[in-house]
Amino acid sequence: MDKMRAFVFHDVGKIELTELPIPQVKDPDDVLLKVKAVGICGSDIKIIEGKHHFKPHTVLGHEFCGEVVAVGTHVHHVKVGDRVAIDNNIRCGFCSFCRMGLSSQCVEIKTSALGVMRDGGYAEYCLVPEKQCFVLPPEIDDVFGTQVETLATVVNGMNTLLMLPYDYVLVLGFGPIGYLFAQFAKNIAAKVAVTEIDPFRISVAKECGLTVWNPNEVDVEKKITEFTYGRKADIVIEATGNALETALKCVTPGGKVLPFGMDSSITTTIVPNEITRWATKILGLYLGQNTMVPSIRIFQENRLNMKPFFTKVIPLNEGLSAFGDLGLDLQTLHHKPKRAMKIVMRV
Ligand SMILES: [Zn+2]
Ligand SMILES: [Zn+2]
Repeated sequence: MDKMRAFVFHDVGKIELTELPIPQVKDPDDVLLKVKAVGICGSDIKIIEGKHHFKPHTVLGHEFCGEVVAVGTHVHHVKVGDRVAIDNNIRCGFCSFCRMGLSSQCVEIKTSALGVMRDGGYAEYCLVPEKQCFVLPPEIDDVFGTQVETLATVVNGMNTLLMLPYDYVLVLGFGPIGYLFAQFAKNIAAKVAVTEIDPFRISVAKECGLTVWNPNEVDVEKKITEFTYGRKADIVIEATGNALETALKCVTPGGKVLPFGMDSSITTTIVPNEITRWATKILGLYLGQNTMVPSIRIFQENRLNMKPFFTKVIPLNEGLSAFGDLGLDLQTLHHKPKRAMKIVMRV
């Protein structure tokens, strides 16, 4: 059987480039992809650290696009030769949440995610169900194609926020998700500021022309109050997973808070009466939902400044170096300063 190169995650701290048999089309709705490019996500780092649910001996990589090379007998919507972006979150379509428009709350969504619970895109080939494939137009290259799913989560956030042209927006955390929200806010809102602690990412925010504050150095509540002429932010997007208390301090009465960053180890203290008294809207949200097609449209029309987003594109063989650049020392599992926003492997 023919072999392919793939990064297999064996267990906490153990990821290796190895050879696996090329997967074969079995189910009628199977699509076999020749992976073209795959992005490295913050949640991949969390998986390697053991801070995210995982399944040992899985090929990681959930931000990927590829070319269709074989299809099952019931595949009708994509064909051999199509270039497709992938929604890695497989929704069952049958549970009551799926059937009532909450497919991101699907009871099975965590059991089958590509690149988390079943083999993903850190490989030369990947088997995906047809319904996870979205055909890419020629205007979107392979590198951008890896980020359609990432953008889809942010577009879901934008659909929920309904950002207005006179909003003051604060984005807490300037990783790839904070970056995308900040670009939307720059296009739409009256004023936007971001926070970040990592020096490299602070420099990227400056390169984007954004106002950026380091919460370890300044009082963010004081800064946002000055920045908004005493009002505070109409919208606070919490893209770190650990700053909900700061978000609640920085939002204006009647304003919206989007807790978007994910960190299940964090607990926080809130005063319910403050939410009531100041009519704060806390908007929970998880993943993208019906937002792959809108995201393709946004990239196709080049609506976001993505220049400083992609720090580098590397070949699959050099993949391990990317984890270090994204702040994880693979030997010790200690954190170190980041040297990248988004790294994409070309396969
Ligand atoms: Zn991701
Ligand atoms: Zn479901």
